[in-house]
Amino acid sequence: MKVANRRRILVTGGAGFLGSHLCERLLNSRNDVLCIDNLYSSTKDNIVHLLSNPNFEFQRHDVTFPVYLEVDEIYNLACPASPIHYQRDPVQTTKTSVHGAINMLGLAKRTKARIFQASTSEVYGDPEVHPQTEDYWGRVNPIGVRSCYDEGKRCAETLFFDYHRQHGLEIKVARIFNTYGPRMHPNDGRVVSNFIVQALQGNDITIYGDGLQTRSFCYVDDLIDGFVSLMSSPRDLTGPVNLGNPSEFTIRELAETVIELVGGASRLVFRPLPHDDPKQRQPDISIAKEQLDWTPQIPLKEGLKNTIAYFRDL
Ligand code: NAD
Ligand code: UDP
Ligand code: UDP
Repeated sequence: MKVANRRRILVTGGAGFLGSHLCERLLNSRNDVLCIDNLYSSTKDNIVHLLSNPNFEFQRHDVTFPVYLEVDEIYNLACPASPIHYQRDPVQTTKTSVHGAINMLGLAKRTKARIFQASTSEVYGDPEVHPQTEDYWGRVNPIGVRSCYDEGKRCAETLFFDYHRQHGLEIKVARIFNTYGPRMHPNDGRVVSNFIVQALQGNDITIYGDGLQTRSFCYVDDLIDGFVSLMSSPRDLTGPVNLGNPSEFTIRELAETVIELVGGASRLVFRPLPHDDPKQRQPDISIAKEQLDWTPQIPLKEGLKNTIAYFRDL
């Protein structure tokens, strides 16, 4: 049966970790999904199960170049997200955030599509405010090795708000905090994937520093719920809105939980703390709670179980 008024939704970076989950979710809600990705930090494996779906299209395309399409909504996720990926070609990382935003905003302007930006907690830099609220302006080094990512994302936010003020675009800016789940990269050096891979291989678990630093981890399904709620929120809710899980765990607790869930004989070993490693990172999600009625639902243990099952089958 032909469904009337299906929305045509563009997801840039749709073959990535978060993008592939988003494409799946949008298809399940009976939309047409167009995924564009240059596969810079992902492979088609993440979306191979979607390729036979008649409502799904994949186009290999780099968002730093213009693209002309007819769409109703745009989710702009294209950008390598982990330091190993974004520092490989830092100039390209800034171009992806900035030229990518300009092209997608130009597309949104022409088609009058609502547009969502995947921004990041990294716009807060090394914060002096805990937990971070959206009105905190951040403390970012403009010339360091992380700047290509942090400043690229900050400039993309600037562009979103100027297209909103100057051209009346309907924008939705999410600031995403550490997220984990199936299809995250096994080798990107992030703590959740490192610990799971080490535990599954029976290797030592490498804790940097004393392991008392804390992080808050959001399971991917919760985050995608947040994306969809923000996108469908009233027009005047532009964001930025923090999306993340405020439950804090020490890195040591994370290591112990992973060992418990995987089983096996891995031991904890301690390695030097990287330079500039934040002691704590935690989102303040009051705005998301109050205005989107959104709070993460999936406890760390449950999310880790699903993620471990994914890595076991790789
Ligand atoms: P990812 O690396 O798995 O996905 C990013 C995707 O963008 C990849 O498929 C990559 O190939 C694609 N891409 C990169 N440059 C491109 C370009 N020039 N043109 C087209 N496609 C391009 O990372 P992810 O974790 O899924 O992150 C998705 C978005 O969410 C990113 O914008 C990231 O900055 C943001 N984010 C993620 C997290 C997190 O915890 N995963 C946290 C904060 C923000
Ligand atoms: N753009 C695009 N697809 C479109 C419309 C615009 O990729 O459907 C790109 C185009 O390359 C342009 C950019 O978006 O450079 C910004 O568009 P805008 O209309 O804001 O600016 P202008 O065209 O005036 O530079
Ligand atoms: N970390 C660790 N062992 C690892 C990888 C990371 O102890 O094998 C620590 C890291 O020093 C940091 C925390 O885990 O304190 C989170 O690191 P990640 O790179 O995943 O995220 P971010 O620092 O960006 O929050």
